[in-house]
Amino acid sequence: MAKKKNPEKKIGSRAKLRMHFLENIGRIMGSDELRTIAGTSEWARRIRELRDEEGFQILTHNDRSSLNPGEYLLETDELQPAFSRGISKETRAFVLDRNGFTCQMCGAVAGEPHTFDPTKKTRLHIGHIIDKSMGGTDDPSNLKAICSVCNEGASNVIYILVLNRNIILQHFCFSLRNT
Ligand SMILES: [Zn+2]
Repeated sequence: MAKKKNPEKKIGSRAKLRMHFLENIGRIMGSDELRTIAGTSEWARRIRELRDEEGFQILTHNDRSSLNPGEYLLETDELQPAFSRGISKETRAFVLDRNGFTCQMCGAVAGEPHTFDPTKKTRLHIGHIIDKSMGGTDDPSNLKAICSVCNEGASNVIYILVLNRNIILQHFCFSLRNT
């Protein structure tokens, strides 16, 4: 949980932005509009929280070359798996640094155009090596950097886990809609 210096104000502005994005799915919005809706100079941070903590797929010019800096777009109310929920900023930074800011599934480098989809700059998330539903923890030893492209395609991927010298083949089929 985030530290709450002024919880009412914080929850209020995030909720206002959440509602506004959901009411304006598919419409590109500028920073002036969003700042006004949020009513706080911390509006950009609140948007990051909606994306990183709640899983809203809010796109920026880092995700879409057709968007200009300062433009935001939510195309769907589907949420991404909230991999990062409960994982501290420090842990995330540690894991990203340890993984060389590189996706551990496809090798894409943070901030560079993605090989599979060059219109997107690679954005890294924190994923679990052993899924939480399989008993995996939020400990850094069970975390890895994973790009949004692999993250989105993670519903149909075969992971080979080497555990205690036994190779266990696991077929994960997780969909956010079911969680
Ligand atoms: Zn990847």
